[in-house]
Amino acid sequence: MKQYWNKTKVVCTIGPACKNADTIKKMILGGMDIARFNFSHGVFAEHGASMKNVRGLALKLRASVAVLQDLPGPKIRIGLLKSDFVELRKGQRFFLTSKNIAGDAAGVGINDPAFVRDLKKKDIVYLNDALVKLVVVSRNREEVFCEVLTGGRIYPRKGVNCPTRILRTASVTPFDMKCLRFGMENGVDFVAVSFVQRPGDIIKVKNFLKRKNKNIFVIAKIERKIAFQEIDGIIRASDAVMVARGDLGIEADYSEVPFLQKELIKKCNRYGRPVITATQMLESMVNSPQPTRAEVSDVANAIIDGTDALMLSEETAMGNFPVEALLAMVRIAEKAESELHRIRQAKNDVLALQEEGLLEAFSLSAVKVAANIKAKVIIVPTLNAGSLSWLSRLRPGCAVAAITSEDAVYKKLILFWGVFPIKIEGFKDLPKTLRQCVELVKTHRLAARHERVVIMLTSDNMLFSSNIMEVRTLD
Ligand code: PGA
Ligand code: MN
Repeated sequence: MKQYWNKTKVVCTIGPACKNADTIKKMILGGMDIARFNFSHGVFAEHGASMKNVRGLALKLRASVAVLQDLPGPKIRIGLLKSDFVELRKGQRFFLTSKNIAGDAAGVGINDPAFVRDLKKKDIVYLNDALVKLVVVSRNREEVFCEVLTGGRIYPRKGVNCPTRILRTASVTPFDMKCLRFGMENGVDFVAVSFVQRPGDIIKVKNFLKRKNKNIFVIAKIERKIAFQEIDGIIRASDAVMVARGDLGIEADYSEVPFLQKELIKKCNRYGRPVITATQMLESMVNSPQPTRAEVSDVANAIIDGTDALMLSEETAMGNFPVEALLAMVRIAEKAESELHRIRQAKNDVLALQEEGLLEAFSLSAVKVAANIKAKVIIVPTLNAGSLSWLSRLRPGCAVAAITSEDAVYKKLILFWGVFPIKIEGFKDLPKTLRQCVELVKTHRLAARHERVVIMLTSDNMLFSSNIMEVRTLD
């Protein structure tokens, strides 16, 4: 059984650098909570095999790992090149075309004809994660002629951004739907929708899943500045949110990213939606066994701001030190968590005072009681993952054991900060349930003899109609 668990959840992107069994095992034991499969790369069969592999190993190690499918979305990309890469020089001419051509130093194809059609004179276009900057100088029907303002290398299938143009292509493309069907068949727990622009993008996916009777959490990836125009609606429509700083730092100026991140995290905490902070968190660890001090600060600050989860991308998928990157993440998180609950105490009163619901009031009281009597754990039997969000967002100093009989609920609970999900066969009557839950907490060594626990149960847990809070000392 995995003895170790972290309150801040860690999402690791699975890729060539880590998908062998030995590395995955080390990552599971090291504290990976969620395995992310990026459908912008790789083929379905490989992802499917890899998902099975992760699940199988987690089962063997008696650890809980959820699976996140990341849909590509309408990401604009350049096409293939005649060579491995092309070097562009400042001042040279370069064309973009909607035709499917093999590119060279004169120009490249773009995967979305509507994007090319919409570009106008003076538009700024970025290639390869904003390393290369172009300005449109003229155009005809199918080609756009640019001047290179900042030179650099471009590689096949790299991203293209034009922050000033609203994408005409819907955020959920036909290929995304194909990916999603594959994800459903393979039992993913979370699906991330890329380049979300409005609440409707999320609602579309949620309605589709509802029609198919699939209980999958839908995560909105916020990577376009335009999404901030209706950000409250987007957050409320979603089950969780990802601060996708990579593309966000191109679509908005990179100097804006810290503030957009803080705004998003604050809103997600407020609406009780788990939030994942993503991209370049420990980027230097692609090539180094140690993080930079700036990266350490960034990760710790994201936790203090209120992120529920941290994400590793290239670091685990393509890097030379996937396991070291994960271990560094967990180590930074542990330290930040130990400081966090002290920082948070005053904030909680203000937070909860804004809410009038019974669940919010109970959650705040449970956190306070647990802190005052030095309880080891708050126990919540539940059939509803969302009901844990209020307790989680208060960042209690002790653990929260969420006990559920539902597989789907169990996997969702993995994403919530500070929540340790426990699976139970089934629930009986109320007194038996309370006894069983206390036993389970003992078995999982979240509390020992003579230590105190707080049990919290409200009708929002969809289990019993009672609303009770009880303190027990373990015998
Ligand atoms: P990606 O999304 O890794 O799929 O591009 C995350 C980001 O843009 O930050
Ligand atoms: Mn992105």
